[in-house]
Amino acid sequence: MALCPKCHGILNFWNVKAECPYCGVNIPNYNWEGNLDADAEKAEKAWVKFRKFTGNLKSALFGNLFRIIRFAFTFLPLVVLILPLASYSLNLPFFGDSSTNFTLLDFSMNTLLSLNWGSLLGLMSAESLGSPVAMLIFSILLIYLAIVFGVLNFVFVLLKAPSLKAGANIVLCILSTLSFAIAGLLFTISVSQIGATSTAFIDGSVQFGLFVGIGLFALNVILNVLINRSFKKQRATQN
Ligand SMILES: [Zn+2]
Repeated sequence: MALCPKCHGILNFWNVKAECPYCGVNIPNYNWEGNLDADAEKAEKAWVKFRKFTGNLKSALFGNLFRIIRFAFTFLPLVVLILPLASYSLNLPFFGDSSTNFTLLDFSMNTLLSLNWGSLLGLMSAESLGSPVAMLIFSILLIYLAIVFGVLNFVFVLLKAPSLKAGANIVLCILSTLSFAIAGLLFTISVSQIGATSTAFIDGSVQFGLFVGIGLFALNVILNVLINRSFKKQRATQN
């Protein structure tokens, strides 16, 4: 049910005239100047909000040299895709002799599909090999997980820039650092345990790429902690 904007009399739906039946005011034109002002105010507010959004986005990503560096370092850990993370030699009946460096890109493109996963998983059921093989597989999964956290970090750098926040980035960078470090640890433990068994089908060690990865992810943690602090100060001036 509608009300007359002037006298607040009840307007029934069968009242199709433009004038109010009680006070005679022209309803569509009533207070049009005031409504215009209200519209202008709304547009002004939306504009201010939009300016703040784009201003903060630009400031968060490129506001000063330090923030540009932080944005660039968001991508840098992706070099771990092509760096050797570990070297290993396999001696498997279903794989043949091979000695090679483990880079994530090469492993994903070539080895992942050609590996006989059935046999590898079968090894897990062997009494003495079960836990080291599980650790080995888990360490590879952790490397992929670190990459996922790294990509998510990039997404959140963009998403959170307009609101000048970096808390999610700190958490994601800590998670990728930990995933990488634990992956290296599990790989080392697993290889040494397998080496101690009678079926020593793998030998290997972590390579410099792993430490570069840990270093870059950890550097991102520090950068985001510092950025988050300056974001907080900047937010305080805006409220
Ligand atoms: Zn009226």
